[in-house]
Amino acid sequence: MKDAAMNDILIVGAGPVGLTLAAVLVRHGVRVRLVDKLASASPYCRAIGVTPRTLEVMDDLGLAGALVDAGIWLDGLRTLVHGHPARDSDNDFADLPYAQLGVPQDATERLLAGHLAGQGVGIERGVELAGLTQDETGVEARFADGSSARFAYVVGCDGAHSAVRRVLGIAFEGEAWPMEFMLGDVRIDWDLPPEQDLPRGRALFALRPIPEAPPDLFVAIPLPERGRYRVSMVAPERLGAPGQGTGHGIQIDRPGATLADLQEVADRLLPDPPRLSELRWSSIFRISMRLAARYGTGRVFIAGDACHIHPPTGGQGMNTGIQDAYNLGWKLAAVARGEAGPALLASYEAERRPVAEAVIARTVEQSLNFGRPRPPEDRLADTQLLVNYRGGPLSVGAAVGPVEPGDRLPEVQGLRRHGLGFPLRLADAVRGPDLVLLATVRRGEVSALEALAAQLRASVRAPLRLVAVAPGDAAVEAPPGVSLFYDAAGMFAAAFGPAPAALIVRPDKYVGWTGAVGDAGGMLDYLTGVLGLAAG
Ligand SMILES: Cc1cc2nc3c(=O)[nH]c(=O)nc-3n(C[C@H](O)[C@H](O)[C@H](O)COP(=O)(O)OP(=O)(O)OC[C@H]3O[C@@H](n4cnc5c(N)ncnc54)[C@H](O)[C@@H]3O)c2cc1C
Repeated sequence: MKDAAMNDILIVGAGPVGLTLAAVLVRHGVRVRLVDKLASASPYCRAIGVTPRTLEVMDDLGLAGALVDAGIWLDGLRTLVHGHPARDSDNDFADLPYAQLGVPQDATERLLAGHLAGQGVGIERGVELAGLTQDETGVEARFADGSSARFAYVVGCDGAHSAVRRVLGIAFEGEAWPMEFMLGDVRIDWDLPPEQDLPRGRALFALRPIPEAPPDLFVAIPLPERGRYRVSMVAPERLGAPGQGTGHGIQIDRPGATLADLQEVADRLLPDPPRLSELRWSSIFRISMRLAARYGTGRVFIAGDACHIHPPTGGQGMNTGIQDAYNLGWKLAAVARGEAGPALLASYEAERRPVAEAVIARTVEQSLNFGRPRPPEDRLADTQLLVNYRGGPLSVGAAVGPVEPGDRLPEVQGLRRHGLGFPLRLADAVRGPDLVLLATVRRGEVSALEALAAQLRASVRAPLRLVAVAPGDAAVEAPPGVSLFYDAAGMFAAAFGPAPAALIVRPDKYVGWTGAVGDAGGMLDYLTGVLGLAAG
């Protein structure tokens, strides 16, 4: 390990959460060290489902297009019960900016690692965190090779068996499913009649319900490569090794299932069983449900599976961890850069722990009802677009139309900008690491914003942009210091209501403060008082 400057942030673990956190911190200009105890990246594809909300995060980081290219849209699900087709259901997400994507976790990790490499950040592999000691000014990290280094902050993105969580003495209460599961990456040749064709992008769940017990099941999730699937099922007892293994996740210290083991379950549960072939890898995995009692202590935080583990149903684990990183990243960057006081960091646990608590409850409930149709009002539950921080410590003000402080910034399309011959989304207007004051104004009020933009910028040290949206077409050029958009399609007014209003949008694209466009005092109170930003 080379010497670290005190401003560095150490990220322990280069899974999807550590990689996302590094990407967020780097775009804020913060120097990071990213270490992982594995000598090479894990070849296992655990997560496949990438939620619409994660795609919004990746859009902000400039990676959504590459992720879409690497993936396959998960269009729907066929359920078979006792070998008979019970139903085909479609994922109906045509009204969302992004639908549900499938990308093997190792490909997501490669993409993030490649992005970081392009910014000059490498993963230090074969480096295992062994211990931590912290004082008021920094954290001393000790590594398994006997070396040590000092950092301003440390974040443990080191998975379910987090060393950072253990060193901090944070309880990880919960329980485990008694049975084990097996996973495999195989080719499946469906030999189905044309009327039962399984289109590319459709998953298959085959179930045999068992009274008073979990169902016997065979789950095939399509992978981007034509004809390939990630299959999962309950492992037969003969493959079990009670007392061995590591409690949650893939049991890398034990042999996986054979192709014959996987085929046996397909033969038992599928009519006209297809032939499974070309097994690339397989593994045994276990499922636990646990939530960390705290998300950090002092200058050390945890994120992702280090905080929360639960059944993979609904594909929430990696995605929830990525949102942890997106929430913590801008706060940690603001504090590390001296733009905000450390009190801002307490909002990370306050906002994210209740989200994980809800995810654990939902995925456990879904697992117990596996294969049953879900009520229509649950349609968006797993998209993560409904996650909000209403009532949280950083959410202040009254509703603007249907949008409340603490809500995710809604999707708006059809904005126009003077001089640009193409429509834009609100996501384009607020993209980037800065805080944004989003003001809706009448056409004649645009010039008054120039002075407001200058006043706010002079008042806080953190970068802050002013984005204004006026009704109608892109008639007038923006005044200096203001990014001016026109609501040509009326979608902005539909999302926020017609009345002029101002919103402070956080770098993770959640609404922080709402108020009147002229309420500069209220804005400054929020920025300096609630967010604790340093005076400019
Ligand atoms: C079968 C299965 C299917 C799943 N499907 C989905 C899905 O569809 N969608 C979804 O969102 N989630 C899914 N998940 C969950 C998802 O895989 C995890 O939530 C995700 O991997 C968590 O990412 P992470 O970065 O927090 O931890 P990990 O991916 O576990 O990464 C932790 C990293 O930390 C490193 N590390 C550990 N200890 C140390 C140490 N002391 N020093 C240095 N490095 C260390 C490890 O080597 C590892 O690389 C699934 C899981 C399973 C098992």
